[in-house]
Amino acid sequence: MERAVARVEYDAIRANCTKLSEGLSEGAELCAVVKADGYGHGDVDAAGAALAGGATRLAVATAVEADRIGHRFPHVPLLTMGALTAAEVDIALAAGSELALWREPFRVVVADRARALGRPARVHVKLDTGMGRLGTPDPDEALALARACAADPDLELAGIWTHLATADDPDSEFFAQQLDRFEPVAAAVKAEFPEVVAHAANSAATLRDRRSHHDMVRCGVAIYGLDPFQSDPAERGLAPALSLRSHVADLKRFEPGDTAGYGRRWAAPEETWVGVVPLGYGDGVRRGLSDNAEVLVGGRRRPVVGTISMDNLTVDLGPEGGVEPGDEAVLIGVQGEDRILAEEVAARLDTINYEVTCGISARVPRRAA
Ligand SMILES: *Cc1c(COP(=O)(O)O)cnc(C)c1O
Repeated sequence: MERAVARVEYDAIRANCTKLSEGLSEGAELCAVVKADGYGHGDVDAAGAALAGGATRLAVATAVEADRIGHRFPHVPLLTMGALTAAEVDIALAAGSELALWREPFRVVVADRARALGRPARVHVKLDTGMGRLGTPDPDEALALARACAADPDLELAGIWTHLATADDPDSEFFAQQLDRFEPVAAAVKAEFPEVVAHAANSAATLRDRRSHHDMVRCGVAIYGLDPFQSDPAERGLAPALSLRSHVADLKRFEPGDTAGYGRRWAAPEETWVGVVPLGYGDGVRRGLSDNAEVLVGGRRRPVVGTISMDNLTVDLGPEGGVEPGDEAVLIGVQGEDRILAEEVAARLDTINYEVTCGISARVPRRAA
């Protein structure tokens, strides 16, 4: 038995991609975002499952990620979405990745590096329509850059794109404003360069409004069966792929007043059994879940009691016990009739499901379920 494991149902990722693909507007492609080790799910296997499910492109954030993915899937278009240094441009280009750009000096860097490599770089010009992060906010600069890329023998203009700040907030009007800003720029670029791929949508936008689909959608969180709106993924026909499982390594009888963990922050109010689960913040089970989470043991929810430490946490198994050492403990996922969603854990931490699965540390092995 393993101390702890993140089990990943890659079939669920495949099915989620099929589901997302079926909802796309005519001609739009699904680009599966596998940055941050596939949101903690294992990037290479997640990418393979996504492609089997109908994704036709892949995206990552960094050059190191491009290096991991690009060589494995050499015939699949890959986009590195992040800002890169010149050294990182070399790594991403060598991996066969397409790059993002939005400034003339960086365009020159990419062209120089592509020439040195002996192969034109495919680039996506980014317009900042309100995210306030990467991209030029100036539509004229975006159009001028697109023309400069198209005219440069060391570059190929592959895309015009933007990123949406409030797609996950159904009440936000800013979502439509960003699309309003993007559309004329995308249309102007495509009028001159019809092969260019226009893209704007993340998972939330993809599920929310077909107007955002353009030629391609960039879905991350939804392919893993996580809900971009932080509610139940089943409502959108998505199946969570990841579960986080460990076991009760030991248990002991507590008398009233006995305490568990650093700082003695929890004391048994009555006689009870307390189990130790060998998972802690060193595994990405955040300390903020101390006295603030439940774990499935024996098919029932049991409260996490006391302070979560680096390698262990403690659960109150109740006065009747009935649990044996070695019994499975589920922090995220299904056991018996019950389940704990990453969305539930996120809500307890006042964060989003993305951070919960990305935060599962490298100490926890990922295994195909
Ligand atoms: C991470 C990322 C995505 C994917 O977003 P999800 O909400 O996970 O679908 C899309 N586009 C960009 C630019 C990103 O950084």
